[in-house]
Amino acid sequence: MQKKELKQIENLLKSRKNILLKEFEKRAKKYRDAGSEKATDVVEIASSSSSEVLEFAVAEEGARELKQIEDALSRIKTGQYGVCEQCGKVIKKARLKAIPFATLCVSCKEEEEKACDDRAFRERAEEIADRPENVETDDMDTLHVGKKIMELEYDDNRN
Ligand SMILES: [Zn+2]
Repeated sequence: MQKKELKQIENLLKSRKNILLKEFEKRAKKYRDAGSEKATDVVEIASSSSSEVLEFAVAEEGARELKQIEDALSRIKTGQYGVCEQCGKVIKKARLKAIPFATLCVSCKEEEEKACDDRAFRERAEEIADRPENVETDDMDTLHVGKKIMELEYDDNRN
């Protein structure tokens, strides 16, 4: 990628970062102005009104984006920008223009998404298998206790 293009992307990232930071400030100020101590932690926010929940979700999304932007900016500094973290190939310019903080090339990204889907499917299947109605807890407890008693008796005999 040419220096000029890189500079353009850097500027783009920086201005997006500023917008996000301003939004955070605004939100923080709003809560301060409201004179409330609410919305200071996740639990409180989650249990408050739905509009606040929504706002928190937006803030969280913004925080994630901010992190990605910071990462991209530091990659520009170190000369790693535009290189796929997975396969080391150069990420296509069109992709970087669409997603300036992309860290994976299109094919690695697709692979990752496929892997995520597989994992989600497996986790769901395990969850179903772990459901209480499929586990005979009572019998297992009885067995376990019975075994413990036997072990204790064995210890007694040995002493
Ligand atoms: Zn790749």
